[in-house]
Amino acid sequence: MKIPFLSFEETNRKIKSEILTSFEEFFDKSWYILGDSVKKFEKEYATFNNVEYAIGISNGLDALHVALKTLDIGSGDEVIIPSNTFIASALAVSYTGAKPVLVEPDRKTYNIDPGKIESAITFKTKAIMPVHLYGQACEMDAIMAIAQKHNLYIVEDNAQSQGATFNGRMTGSFGDINGTSFYPGKNLGALGDAGALTTNNSKLAQKANAFRNYGSTKKYYNEVIGFNMRLDECQAAFLSIKLQYLKNWTEERKQIAAWYDEALCGNQELILPATAKNATHAYHLYVIRTKRRNELQKHLSSNGIGTLIHYPVPIHLQEAYRNLDYKKGDFPIAEEIANSCLSLPMWPGITKSMVEEVAQIINKFK
Ligand SMILES: *Cc1c(COP(=O)(O)O)cnc(C)c1O
Repeated sequence: MKIPFLSFEETNRKIKSEILTSFEEFFDKSWYILGDSVKKFEKEYATFNNVEYAIGISNGLDALHVALKTLDIGSGDEVIIPSNTFIASALAVSYTGAKPVLVEPDRKTYNIDPGKIESAITFKTKAIMPVHLYGQACEMDAIMAIAQKHNLYIVEDNAQSQGATFNGRMTGSFGDINGTSFYPGKNLGALGDAGALTTNNSKLAQKANAFRNYGSTKKYYNEVIGFNMRLDECQAAFLSIKLQYLKNWTEERKQIAAWYDEALCGNQELILPATAKNATHAYHLYVIRTKRRNELQKHLSSNGIGTLIHYPVPIHLQEAYRNLDYKKGDFPIAEEIANSCLSLPMWPGITKSMVEEVAQIINKFK
């Protein structure tokens, strides 16, 4: 049996007729940019995320970039991000002219370690960007306390964790303004690039609205040097449909994770995902760790099982960030995770027997 790392087969089958109908409506309406569908989805996503405002943006990276711009973060400033995250978290900071400052994650949750944040704060620090990596909520109470104490903004990178909570509160609702991604493979995925901002602050929402649309709220009057970073009308219409399924799909992901846990927990060579107290995990990814990661990945591949590595090269060792002057060994936990992590197939629709087959191949690997 071939088991891909990711498949849209099940989810697409469920929504196909609704999507085709909405495409026809969108096409016939002949209003393709910033219309009713974007407004409608923004309202629905704000309700889902339990925030006052959601602002549709072209993609997740742009959302994080706009978030930082609304906080007037720029050249000479520093923003704290985790040392193990997707490159986009760092790029968003760099685009503003600010410097990404890396802080090591916790060894068990892989999320930024609140105990290590304070020593990275300088007089230039303006914000902390917690990334709810792999779908698990960061320890937001500790991070919020540090931000409050040092008068820093919080910008959550909520790209992987739609539907996760900390102390019962949704990720994407803690920070001053937060970015998320609807890249097709994310827990809520569009049929192309898409993203959003979430905030409870009306001023920041207004600023974000201007930034995404040439810096203008009134047509042809420009308040700031803005961007063209709008969410497409058709993507918004598709997202409204998919959002209705998100709760069920998140529950499915949790069930799939539980199947993996059960089938793999006896394997002494593996470290399985661990969820912190008070946090929930939306299982964007099911990430295991093992010393013989590369060999195991090859073995799985030769048995028809797709896996990926999130991520093979930590930010501080990326060619693009040579100017930060970091070297190998500077962030040993991030390096250890990069060298040992492996993401197993995880998508709504994968069956228990598929999960058991993946687990069996892993458990028999000697
Ligand atoms: C996907 C992702 C992004 C970027 O989102 P795009 O829509 O691909 O631009 C940012 N941060 C994290 C953690 C992500 O996983």
